[in-house]
Amino acid sequence: MKITGIQKNSFIDYPGKIAAVVFTPGCNMDCFYCHNRQIICTSQQSELIDEQVFWDFIKKRKSLLEGIVISGGEPTLQSDLPAYIKAIKDMGYSVKLDTNGTNPDMLQKLIEENLIDYVAMDIKAPFEKYQKICGCIIEMRAIQESIDLLIQSENDYEFRTTFVPQLTEEDGVSIAKKIKGAKKYVLQQYRKPITKGIDFQDERLDDAPYTTHVMYNIKSQVEHFVQTVELRGVS
Ligand code: SF4
Repeated sequence: MKITGIQKNSFIDYPGKIAAVVFTPGCNMDCFYCHNRQIICTSQQSELIDEQVFWDFIKKRKSLLEGIVISGGEPTLQSDLPAYIKAIKDMGYSVKLDTNGTNPDMLQKLIEENLIDYVAMDIKAPFEKYQKICGCIIEMRAIQESIDLLIQSENDYEFRTTFVPQLTEEDGVSIAKKIKGAKKYVLQQYRKPITKGIDFQDERLDDAPYTTHVMYNIKSQVEHFVQTVELRGVS
């Protein structure tokens, strides 16, 4: 599997666990607010990390880390993801996957083979606004399939939305209806990404994030539809 970065310690990326985060290159979306822009386009890809470096690292850190988060980019684009996760789990780690939900077949395989302990799936927008937020045409049937798979599974999971100012409170409700009954929905505050050294401009990046008051208001409206709502990045 291709790896382009390793964050050696994280206390926030895997709920309840101290974890390392592995970043895979490439993504089939192009969200204007992407914080990992340098790894999503092949033309700007940073160098790949030798896989052995990763295996040596997690072997050495076994006594300190509880989990490994596989993030990106979009990890499900890597065809050998299941084998890779199995090898990590065989070492005794829990594994969390961050995904944009475009590959339900891969998600199903990971769930059926008990390879995944926690999934965080992004819901970018109400379905009719995906193209605007993600900068490309997305097959919404795939997103719906991934949503259904997670809700019907026994797995731990969360759906999460980065609440950019281009989304409205009504959009929050519309998303919550799509994931009705879900165990957990996370509303993430928008933070402007660092684009220094990256050839990318989008005037939407400068829009002010919603205030804490608005974020709490959105939370109160969506909590009728899901079991738990969490605000992230809100002071
Ligand atoms: S899906 Fe995630 S990694 Fe891909 S462009 Fe959007 S924010 Fe970036």
